Amino acid sequence: MHTTPTLPARSVMLRALSERDSRFEGQFFFAVRTTGVFCRPTCRSRAPRPENVQFFPTAAEAYRAGFRPCRRCRPTEAATAIPPEIGKLRDALEAAPEQRWSDADLCAAGYDPSTVRRCFRRAYGVTFHAYRRSLRIGTALRTLQSGRGVLEAGLAAGYESASGFASAVRAIAGAPPGRARASMAQLASSQIDTPLGPMLALADDAGVRLLEFTDRRGLDRECREICRRLQARILPGENAPLRAARRALDRYFSTGAMPEIATAPIGSPFQLRVWSYLLNIPAGETRSYSQVAADLGIPRASRAVGRANGSNRIALLIPCHRVIASDGSLSGYSGGVSRKRWLLQLEQRAQQAHS
Ligand SMILES: [Zn+2]
Repeated sequence: MHTTPTLPARSVMLRALSERDSRFEGQFFFAVRTTGVFCRPTCRSRAPRPENVQFFPTAAEAYRAGFRPCRRCRPTEAATAIPPEIGKLRDALEAAPEQRWSDADLCAAGYDPSTVRRCFRRAYGVTFHAYRRSLRIGTALRTLQSGRGVLEAGLAAGYESASGFASAVRAIAGAPPGRARASMAQLASSQIDTPLGPMLALADDAGVRLLEFTDRRGLDRECREICRRLQARILPGENAPLRAARRALDRYFSTGAMPEIATAPIGSPFQLRVWSYLLNIPAGETRSYSQVAADLGIPRASRAVGRANGSNRIALLIPCHRVIASDGSLSGYSGGVSRKRWLLQLEQRAQQAHS
């Protein structure tokens, strides 16, 4: 089988699915050729014969390869919003990932352990403890990347021994921590629900790297490209830039004004130039491709500007929807022209309300 860089080794995945290892939730999906069905790694159905198994990094790819989602483990079920008190617990986990949370600890802090488990599974597709583990591993890998030793990184993240840390990293990354050092940057991924449909957001400490409607064609290819460029893995979860994006979108959809938050787009110097221009088009206004080209001092490059505009991966926050054709028609939009029209109308109404 053709493996993509974001999938763990086939032998690792085969073992994970035979053990129904919840640490691999969200890391891969597997399809069974004889039944035509695809599943999450933890599916309770009978284990398939290894020779019939095919792996995919995303449910969308399994779909496109002609498999249908299992009715038992519901591999396409989207993450949903989590209740505020669970959000508080998640923030506490992120603030101190080395802290242990037994059921007794949860009860003492006023949480019902079974609600916590259900909410984490529904929102992030992983168990509460798997979520905690991936945060701890994230902390440890950042410590490693800062140049400290394996033992120190493991201990800082709350592992009791270097070997416990090493086996946790190996299970997820397929490589021991020494080798994972260079290649295991973390991207947190989360779904953000909007009035125009759910969006997928990816962010690391530098800021938001991707924000796209989940029905965008080629979304999984874009995610893989970002992983490749950053040498990073995607883990379900939240971080400060994702929380900022969630708040910014809430505000945008209720007021038509987008608060400024940190974005960290990945692109060529030319693309970055076009995208930073877009950030300066005020809400409620539009520019044509040729105007953008002229303003950038490259009047003959409006086609290249159009292509750079269309390859923006951070929708809404970098407002590529504010660029239209010279004749005033909306031209294209990766999220669909009807969304583009809706967004421009939202912004124009907000402007009119203010003037
Ligand atoms: Zn299943």
